[in-house]
Amino acid sequence: MYNFEPMRLAIIPIILFAAISAAAQSATLETVLAKRLALKERLAVVNGKTVTKKGIALSEVCDLGDPVSARVFRDYGAMWVGNNDSFAGYRQNPDGTFVADCVFDDESEVAAYHAAVSSKTAMIGPTSVTLRADAMDALVAARAEALAAKLNITPRGGSTAARRSFGDTLRLWRSRFLPGLDHWVALGKIKRADADAAKRLEIRKQVAQVLAWEENDWFFSTDFSKSILYSVAAPGASQHIFMIALDVEQFSNPRVRAILAKHGWFQTVKSDLPHFTYMGVQEKELPALGLEPVTVGGQRFWIPRT
Ligand SMILES: [Zn+2]
Repeated sequence: MYNFEPMRLAIIPIILFAAISAAAQSATLETVLAKRLALKERLAVVNGKTVTKKGIALSEVCDLGDPVSARVFRDYGAMWVGNNDSFAGYRQNPDGTFVADCVFDDESEVAAYHAAVSSKTAMIGPTSVTLRADAMDALVAARAEALAAKLNITPRGGSTAARRSFGDTLRLWRSRFLPGLDHWVALGKIKRADADAAKRLEIRKQVAQVLAWEENDWFFSTDFSKSILYSVAAPGASQHIFMIALDVEQFSNPRVRAILAKHGWFQTVKSDLPHFTYMGVQEKELPALGLEPVTVGGQRFWIPRT
């Protein structure tokens, strides 16, 4: 029997590895985020005194029953499980309730977030961009490595390739929403009166209406072939607002993508080809964060596991 001992010992790490892998495979964005929020501290008023309590429910900071929030969570949610917790939803109102920040409602909320988070502005090639400080440091390191290899990493489409205001996301939304409406009205799919009514809707309702139309495959991306959310974000919901996203000019070069990945920058919005997200972790850590890889157009996207 003695001879079998080393073999039995060797099996233990294999079993452990399999168990850890299985746990990583079953993690979802929701379970990962719920666990993190359970460890957070919150302020609560007890007998007229403000005290610190542990634990925030995911539903308190992101209403997944709302169709727009649910889509945002599913399509852009990778940004909330990266390093340094980009999730903004911990801001509390004076009455102890939370600002449900998985979708920002207006410019003042976005401005408050931008003021609260440490950021850096730098010239990246010909363009001045602003990112969260850790994301900028990683980008600068990645770019130095790219330049040393006679490659380059530059922002695509001006300063809004990085940080965006609420107004920027609204403008971008309209740049797809209005041509999309004209396109589907011209094809007779959407009635002119319904299109005009949609233009007058409050923004959250307008987004919900577009997503409902897209259920019929009447898509609102630039070439009407895919969901508007893979082309532009819902207003107030962009990863760019959180200052951890960059649209990269050289996105189609696999060597550039590998350098960005080495420095914690990954593609997490399926089919948004130039768009990279700062996760601040190594690629092998992504499955345990509730993400899984899908390949589209030869590029690997790490999207929330469903
Ligand atoms: Zn982008």
